[in-house]
Amino acid sequence: MQLKDKVIIITGGGQGLGRAMAEYLASKGAQLALVDLDQEKLNAAVAACQSAGTQARAYICNVANEEQVTDMVAQVADDFGAIHGLVNNAGILRDGLTIRVKDGEMTKMSLDNWQAVIDVNLTGVFLCTREVAAKMIELKSQGAIVNISSISRAGNMGQANYSAAKAGVAADTVVWAKELARYGIRVAGVAPGFIETEMTLSMKPDALEKMTSVIPLQRMGKPEEIAHSVAYIFENDYYTGRILELDGGLRL
Ligand code: NAP
Repeated sequence: MQLKDKVIIITGGGQGLGRAMAEYLASKGAQLALVDLDQEKLNAAVAACQSAGTQARAYICNVANEEQVTDMVAQVADDFGAIHGLVNNAGILRDGLTIRVKDGEMTKMSLDNWQAVIDVNLTGVFLCTREVAAKMIELKSQGAIVNISSISRAGNMGQANYSAAKAGVAADTVVWAKELARYGIRVAGVAPGFIETEMTLSMKPDALEKMTSVIPLQRMGKPEEIAHSVAYIFENDYYTGRILELDGGLRL
């Protein structure tokens, strides 16, 4: 699929990887519907896309809220008249050991921290995929859905919630690729390793340094490198049902 003039929704498009993807796809002439929680961040991202000479609009929407997702997708279809793609990128971290014993004190991962990550990182992907696919079928638009999983899908200590959600996203990418191919919708994913964004820079510096030292390429990835992979998936019409691993060679 050529990206020029195609309408692509990016969740979590206000910052980090989502914003980098938005600017990259804008530079290829795609029209962007950017979804996030904060109006100011979204406005800045929209302005950056528009300065590349393409159409872009902001949508405030919590991807974990069914009604908000349904309304957002309907609004995007009304505003642009078509939808050709979605990047399920919005995600959060609530890291912690499931059980931690320190100085005789036991702490546990709270159900709230478990549920918040499952709600945004897994249920949010389900809701956005379901609604966008339904709208694409209704509008007879063909295209692709790209899910952002993570290297942590393999099982990363301190991330029981996040690893479960990202493994679920990877599994359902295969499910949806099979289910939606008949409608001309491809579904694939990218599993980034450690990439330089607000999310990773919020990690403790010693943990970050330890992680970088074991990456074969000896550096974190750049947001533009993830954006490049997302564009590749949109552009390559034979790519579906697979997760592209972009992690500098790191294995957890
Ligand atoms: P980020 O900088 O934290 O950006 C995520 C964006 O999503 C934020 O703008 C955030 O808004 C938004 N968001 C959070 N919850 C949302 C919700 N319920 N509805 C709508 N938007 C919501 O994260 P990032 O590093 O760019 O990561 C993007 C994706 O890549 C995530 O799925 C992440 O798991 C994945 N990933 C990242 C890395 C990495 O190294 N950075 C590695 C592997 C995978 P607020 O800031 O207002 O919450």
